Amino acid sequence: MNQHSVHFRHILNRFIQRRSCQMHPSIALMTRNRRKFRVHRGRLRRKQMSPNHATCLPQVAKCEQRDIRWDGIYVVIVPALSVTAMENWGLITIRQTDGLYKEGQFSITQKHNLQEIISHEVAHQWFGNLVTMKWWNDLWLNEGFATLISVRAVDFLENTTWRYEDKSAELQCIALRTDQMDGMIPVSANSNANIGRYMEKSPKVNAIVYKKSSIIIRMIERLIEDETFKQGLSRFLNSFLYKNADHEDLFNVLVYVHDSSAGGHLSGQNFSLSDVMDTWIRQAHFPIVHVNRLEGSIVTLRQEKYEHVPYDPPRENSQVWKIPIFYDDPVSGKHKVFWLTDKQPAVFDMGGQFVVDPHQLTYMRLRYDMDVYSDITMALLRDHNLVPANSRSRLIDDTMAMAENGQMSYKVPFNMTMYMTSEVREIFRKR
Ligand SMILES: [Zn+2]
Repeated sequence: MNQHSVHFRHILNRFIQRRSCQMHPSIALMTRNRRKFRVHRGRLRRKQMSPNHATCLPQVAKCEQRDIRWDGIYVVIVPALSVTAMENWGLITIRQTDGLYKEGQFSITQKHNLQEIISHEVAHQWFGNLVTMKWWNDLWLNEGFATLISVRAVDFLENTTWRYEDKSAELQCIALRTDQMDGMIPVSANSNANIGRYMEKSPKVNAIVYKKSSIIIRMIERLIEDETFKQGLSRFLNSFLYKNADHEDLFNVLVYVHDSSAGGHLSGQNFSLSDVMDTWIRQAHFPIVHVNRLEGSIVTLRQEKYEHVPYDPPRENSQVWKIPIFYDDPVSGKHKVFWLTDKQPAVFDMGGQFVVDPHQLTYMRLRYDMDVYSDITMALLRDHNLVPANSRSRLIDDTMAMAENGQMSYKVPFNMTMYMTSEVREIFRKR
């Protein structure tokens, strides 16, 4: 806490006393020992933040810092703000139109939104304030982590597990819809040439810096497994506490932690985690993976850059991604990975799954041949739970996107939507 923020706190306290909000958010950040810190008109009450009494964030982010000294966080609802909320060190400000909630008068969605906003800004006390990006091209380090962690925080606060999945589907849908446009920026710039783009406050930039980046981080987390990811983040935050860091610093730490258990390369591959991450954060846009049935559950997978508006003749494109295709091991139930690393078709066994990447862990679109679409539609009509919720959402979004520009008949998505009278998941109410 520096002198400026103490002074600012004093000013804001006076403001709060004069203009107390009629309603205040009765959101509680729950600690590990089940103490609650209510977010009032002003103060998030606590005497000192210590590892044992930390907010939900270390629990949610699964990492701890032992040298943080705070005497509290103020959460202040202000009448006007150019952004939804701001994560000043020890002082979170939230725009009044987004920051009010009262049980019984507001919807559950509004409660979740406010929980996300507060958790997002609390996450910034770590990702942004305690460790700050070196320059604006790595704004995604702040926003991607804060976005991802805020969703997990809602599950933590509500004692649920589905919110993280549902929100990830929503974030991916929005990010893909934006990232498919021409002229998009990558998650991180290689040079300062287009640095101004990262400082723009626009939905396009937000979709990349906040949403796409959070999906890429989630993909990395699944790739290296929870425990390694936890160790990596903990090491990163502790190493750069009160310092600046860029994405190379993060990669180096994740690679170090991962490689110390995997011997340099990803298991069974001749490339490293860093090689994979480069293809996702330093390239704009994303791949589409074509799935064509050979026989039974055996298919070929082939990647190319997704072109939302097809060119005639097709444009040559050299973009290639190292694409992890996640699947569930039928014995252990764990996620396993099949790699698609170049433009050559690869043979893949879908096993008992109706879809590729059933939990929607990879940032891409999928296009199946018509036989497979027919089988998926029949399965959805028989019992839609045969296809995981995130994949149901992706199937409709991918096929609608392709139908919009004549790359596919609208019959395909419309036939699939016939099952939706049975749909209850929140993912589908958010579109
Ligand atoms: Zn933020």
